[in-house]
Amino acid sequence: MQEFWKEAVKITRALWYEEVQTCAFCGGVGDLVCPACTTGYLHPELGRCRRCGKLILKEKASCLDCEAGKGPKHLDLVTAWGHYSGGLREFIQKVKFEAQPRRLMEIARPFANWAISQLPAVDGVVAVPMHASRLAERGFNQAEVLASVIHWELGLPIIEGVERIKPTPSQIKLTRHDRLHNLKDAFAVREPRSLTGRSVWIVDDVTTTGATLDAVAGALSGSGVKTIYGLCLAAGIEKKTCAFGYLAL
Ligand SMILES: [Zn+2]
Ligand SMILES: [Zn+2]
Repeated sequence: MQEFWKEAVKITRALWYEEVQTCAFCGGVGDLVCPACTTGYLHPELGRCRRCGKLILKEKASCLDCEAGKGPKHLDLVTAWGHYSGGLREFIQKVKFEAQPRRLMEIARPFANWAISQLPAVDGVVAVPMHASRLAERGFNQAEVLASVIHWELGLPIIEGVERIKPTPSQIKLTRHDRLHNLKDAFAVREPRSLTGRSVWIVDDVTTTGATLDAVAGALSGSGVKTIYGLCLAAGIEKKTCAFGYLAL
């Protein structure tokens, strides 16, 4: 009799079970990315700097840094899904520092849809590689998981063979000059001949100055890759702070 009731409870649960959709960033019930988080972090009303991906006013083509010649040199176009702040920033930090790479699956569809609406289709995707020592520490490379997400959603092949051969310290607290120095000769391509004439998206989680994307792109273009685009989950933003100028955040 007890078994009967256990089964009855199971069947009742199965009948009533309904998967509740929650926002990947704030956990609110309703949408995959709720309207408040879309407005707050994805900023569809803003454009993206074509050179570094920074969020800028729609009528502008480049941010102030890139206009001054400080942006990436080896990429044809860069785009970022949203601004590295608030819920999107917490989401990325949970993925990386609380070992939750699976959460990237939650945003797979809208992120991939954004990517293909912004960038031309290519031969394949390249993840920004992680040095073996950091990979051993973290256990996974979030850029590789993102490249897999793009592969699953859009069917673009994953291109391997780019390696991080120099264990570079975190870029976060470095100046622009130090970032560039830090990344010098950091990446290498294992079999350059296989990449000649190809077109790729380089995928990473966050970009600020575009220096990392540019360093990978430099290694790829040196190996004969013809067209290189950059794709990130999040970038900085250039805010109009007053009538006289902009503030890069
Ligand atoms: Zn939300
Ligand atoms: Zn820029």
